[in-house]
Amino acid sequence: MKTFKSIIDFQNEFSTEEKCREYLETQRWGLSPACPFCGSVNVHRFPNNRIFKCREKLCRSKFSVTVGTVYENTKIPLTKWFLATYILSVHSKGISSLQLANWLGITQKSAWHLNHRIREMFGDNASELLEGIVEVDETYVGGKESNKHKSKKAIKNGAGKKAMVLGAVERDGRVKVKVLDQTDSETLGATVESFVSSDSILVTDESHAYKKVGQKYNHKKINHRDKEYVRREDISVYCNESAFRYNNRKALTL
Ligand SMILES: [Zn+2]
Repeated sequence: MKTFKSIIDFQNEFSTEEKCREYLETQRWGLSPACPFCGSVNVHRFPNNRIFKCREKLCRSKFSVTVGTVYENTKIPLTKWFLATYILSVHSKGISSLQLANWLGITQKSAWHLNHRIREMFGDNASELLEGIVEVDETYVGGKESNKHKSKKAIKNGAGKKAMVLGAVERDGRVKVKVLDQTDSETLGATVESFVSSDSILVTDESHAYKKVGQKYNHKKINHRDKEYVRREDISVYCNESAFRYNNRKALTL
């Protein structure tokens, strides 16, 4: 892939369906288009420039450069696919489908599709941000501090401090969990931001630790009795699972 100085540069290069197709053809075939069904290079290009027909007697297949690719059978123009790919490649933290939809002038559903397919192409599902209503909660290896008797609570930033497990759960069920060595609100905030898209509704408990990062979101605070948004049972299952693995391996990679 070429590198581009700016998004303007990129758009000039891929401003039409034609240009995008040409690029894909060169990437896929170089100078000699080949039938994707039988591999023959004995093919005819129709005057519309887009469709080919295989000349092999036993094949005779019609095809275009998008056959068998992520772009096949999509109503989304290649120009938008390309632009989305560019945008996602420069936003290493990922962006939300809603943002992508606004930028490209497509529906959020289409944007979600693009977002997922392109991430798959990049092979980095891990950097996809959670979106929508996302509940975040933390627990400690060995139990949540606030649930402990005062005498058993860890001394703040001191010895005996437990590792924190931070979990985020999206309404449609995607989950991110991480063990944090530092439990200060900066670390916690940065982790939340690395998990959750900025236009999400962030749901947490009333802990002060979420106050600062909460200002960057539509932040809903719930107390433990309020069940309006709650999937707290699920989240503690994930957190406990991670804590368990952490205890066993002393290191967790997610
Ligand atoms: Zn063929």
